Amino acid sequence: MMTRKIKLWDINVHITCHLCNGYLIDATTVTECLHTFCRSCLVKYLEENNTCPTCRIVIHQSHPLQYIGHDRTMQDIVYKLVPGLQEAEIKKQREFYYKLGMEVPGDIKGETCSAKQHLDSHRNGETKPDENSNKETSEEKQEEDNDYHRSDEQVSICLECNSSKLRGLKRKWIRCSAQATVLHLKKFIAKKLNLSSFNELDILCNEEILGKDHTLKFVVVTRWRFKV
Ligand SMILES: [Zn+2]
Ligand SMILES: [Zn+2]
Repeated sequence: MMTRKIKLWDINVHITCHLCNGYLIDATTVTECLHTFCRSCLVKYLEENNTCPTCRIVIHQSHPLQYIGHDRTMQDIVYKLVPGLQEAEIKKQREFYYKLGMEVPGDIKGETCSAKQHLDSHRNGETKPDENSNKETSEEKQEEDNDYHRSDEQVSICLECNSSKLRGLKRKWIRCSAQATVLHLKKFIAKKLNLSSFNELDILCNEEILGKDHTLKFVVVTRWRFKV
């Protein structure tokens, strides 16, 4: 396979916000014209305006804020392309809360994470799960690390089943390393429910299917932060 190196400089224009000239943070896209900005920049701008800052199209006469949406794909790309950006953003937010003397939200605390994440598990496959599938054998035994990632930052998740074809987990509250990925979770659920393949299920957060390579930390930072 041929690889081609591209300079970050050349793609900067596509991953920066035209309002603050910084890299996109919490990328938010105008549904009408698909121009993307940082969420905070765009929301602030739309308090006084109802047009897109880039192309000036009228987003909506009176409720422009209802016609913009979080752009996960774009934010994923930005975080992937710009080394250290995600970490720097988390650090910045942490400092912001400290400065205001406010409690730092669990998802950016950096130690034990107390954010309760609501992930809905859902499956499309046909296989009927076996009733006697509750061998609570811990998969963590296979982990190489001696502490089973317990010293990692932790996340607490509630896995709610939203498919009638699938019974819920016996224990829907789980706590695991923030470094675990959505794929880990899928494998875990598939094992618990005796599914023939983890591809039979999707994990959703805020009604959105989560990519399998996302770490739970990433999910918390990008999906949970602005949840009302
Ligand atoms: Zn911005
Ligand atoms: Zn536009």
